[in-house]
Order: sequence, then structure tokens, then C-alpha cells
Amino acid sequence: MAKPILVANWKNHPSSLKEAADLLTTLSRRSMLYKKLSLYIAPPYTYFESVSKRIKGFANLASQDVFFSADGPHTGSVTPDILKSFGVKLAIIGHSERRALGETNEVVATKLKTAFIAGIVPLLCIGETSRDDEGNHLQFIQDQLKFSLEGIRRKEDAEKLIIAYEPVWAIGKRASEAMSPTDLAEMVIFIKKALTDIFGRDAADVIPVLYGGSVDGSNAEPLYKETGIRGFLVGRASLKSKEFCEIAEALISS
Ligand code: PEP
Repeated sequence: MAKPILVANWKNHPSSLKEAADLLTTLSRRSMLYKKLSLYIAPPYTYFESVSKRIKGFANLASQDVFFSADGPHTGSVTPDILKSFGVKLAIIGHSERRALGETNEVVATKLKTAFIAGIVPLLCIGETSRDDEGNHLQFIQDQLKFSLEGIRRKEDAEKLIIAYEPVWAIGKRASEAMSPTDLAEMVIFIKKALTDIFGRDAADVIPVLYGGSVDGSNAEPLYKETGIRGFLVGRASLKSKEFCEIAEALISS
């Protein structure tokens, strides 16, 4: 049985390398717990070297983005080769905060291709900004998947892909405002159906779907149990060692 997946998206935190090192020292005390998961930590680029040394043995280094081109001069960009040289195994692609800056499904599709070529596992983020009674959000999710995965049809690629379903309205809120387990279970079925339309049943079956949006120690267990997700993408709670540890425990015990 595949291990549950837990991805820590540190975004632009913590504000110093010293705080990052302190957080990792605390996490490493529970390394035996974290080894039971496929754990990825996505820190700011400037912390890569230090973080990659400190997480050896219990977590993998991840990137919060990947540049869409592998070659050529690109001032200010970090290319997949550079990510690889630091040992990056997974890249978050199409996070809603990047989409809010203007990243389109077309750009996301190019980034996914670049990640596959570089041998970096892409974690494709999808999620509606709002819901309505007419179900327009379902069409939105279907389109995001269809256009973000444009041109990716090889079974080998599909089998490496991970999806993070992150309803934008549920990100950065209190745990009580996260999606309900019942609604999440429905969305996982919908996403799997959309993936089946794109890749066929066999490939879609093996693509893990994660959930992200206000997960903490209090709601991780109900959100994981019986919803069909394979793990979490976590923002704020990944910077709090106690909360993060409780999320990890919920993934192991459920
Ligand atoms: C995120 O931004 O990807 C996220 C899941 O954030 P939070 O856990 O803080 O809601």
C-alpha cells in the first residue's frame, strides 16, 4: 500500500533561515513518524541548501513552482536543472496564488511538461474560487484539469502526476471553514471521473488526489477518512511543528 502523501508549502516563510532551521530541528525529532509518509517540504528557494541537508532521511525537497523553460537566458528564474541540482523531487505547479498573479492553464501545461522532462514530479493544483447552486464550479474544475493537462497523454507521465484539489475559498481560513468531508468525497469522485476522461480508467485510478485548504490537527482525520484523498497540501499549519505532527499522525492512524 502506497504511503500517504504530505506536502508542506512554506510559501515565503519563515522570515529567517534560523527560524527554518529551528523548525526542522523540531520536526526531525519525529523523523520516525514522518518516514511513514511520503513527506515533501517546499521552502523558499534561498533556504534550499540548508533545508535539503536537514531533512535527509525523513523528507524530500520540493519546489513551490517550476519555470516553464529549461534553456535560454531568463533573468530571475529558477530552471528545472537548478532545482534538480538541489535534489528537488516534486514541484507545486499552478498554485492558486500563482494563478492569481496571471498564470493561465496554458502556462501551467507548459510547466507540467517541463517538470516531466526534468524528472520532477508535478503536483498540479486546481480549485474553484467560489461555488454556486448551479454547479458552475464543476465545469470550472473540469476545464482546469483539461487545459492544464493539455498535451500530456503518456501513461508514464499520468502515473507520476499528483493532483492537489484546493478550493480557493477554503485556503488560509479557520479549520471550521475548510471543505466538509462529505463535499470533499464528492469532489474526489468528480476529479477522478474527469481524469478518467483524459487518461482512461487505469491511469486515472493511480493518480493521487490531495486536499489543501485550512487543514490542521483538528480536522485532518475526518478530511482524510472516507473521502478518497491520498494526503494533504498544507500551508500555514506546516510552519507549526505541533499542528504538522498532528496532521501526520492523522494520516498514519486513519
Ligand atoms: C495553500 O495555500 O496551499 C494552503 C493549503 O494553505 P492553508 O493550509 O494555509 O489553507
